[in-house]
Amino acid sequence: MTLPSDAEARRAVAPVTCYPTATLPKPDLNLYRAARLMAQKCDEVVVAPRHAATFHAPAGHFARISCVDGPQVGDLNLWHANDLTERFYSGKTRALHGTHVTSGDRLWSSFPNLRPMATIIKDTLDWYGIDQFGGSVHDVIGTRCDPYTGNLLDGVHYHHCCHSNLTRALAAHLNLPPAKAEPLVHDVMNVFMCTGFTRDTGQYFMKASPVRPGDHIEFFAEIDLLGALSACPGGDCSSGHTSDKAHCYPLLVEIFKPQNDALQDWQSPWPNQYDASHGR
Ligand SMILES: [Zn+2]
Repeated sequence: MTLPSDAEARRAVAPVTCYPTATLPKPDLNLYRAARLMAQKCDEVVVAPRHAATFHAPAGHFARISCVDGPQVGDLNLWHANDLTERFYSGKTRALHGTHVTSGDRLWSSFPNLRPMATIIKDTLDWYGIDQFGGSVHDVIGTRCDPYTGNLLDGVHYHHCCHSNLTRALAAHLNLPPAKAEPLVHDVMNVFMCTGFTRDTGQYFMKASPVRPGDHIEFFAEIDLLGALSACPGGDCSSGHTSDKAHCYPLLVEIFKPQNDALQDWQSPWPNQYDASHGR
């Protein structure tokens, strides 16, 4: 390795934020939270350990994901309910809000729509912040446990990774064979998972989730949402995944319907208004 003479000077250049968010449209959290206070529960889904389940959250409704019996992380996919090509875009959400999300952050959809799909209005783990290892909760780093990486690294064919759980749940919902549903499964939001990157090698790490029964995160559905949530085979992800070794627990998804006039000043966001000419 040859160091240039000005190596330290180049390293010392200060970073700039890629996407300053001063002009990012801000959610009206007070409006959402006031509407949530009067909203009535209209549906619930229990996600069994090492499985996934789908749920609907119509625009203007609220979805709460809760830890119920023991520490458990979940892998979340979101689609526009009427156009599954519009789906959660973990990479751009990460670029806009950071590697981990909490109250006030939004989950953005894929191109060409790039609009808020959901806004996080409550997170009982918002106290966690960033720990001494650089770890934090609810990552949008993207990937999910999957059988392909398991096969690559260990030669195992394990069928209850989050990727397979989400594929089976979506296939059942759409009445499609798994191979047709699989391409619609995408990079996730890791609900309750505590992750980061090691400072010395930059590798993705996980550690025991701080989530406990009663903890929850709540979203406001900005558009009609189809969701799928997997109760990860890693349980609290304190040791491993891609196996049946970890203790796993169910997750609860509850949907709340707002009162009729609670959101009269709110409008579902338009798709991105870029002209899509790409300069041609
Ligand atoms: Zn998983």
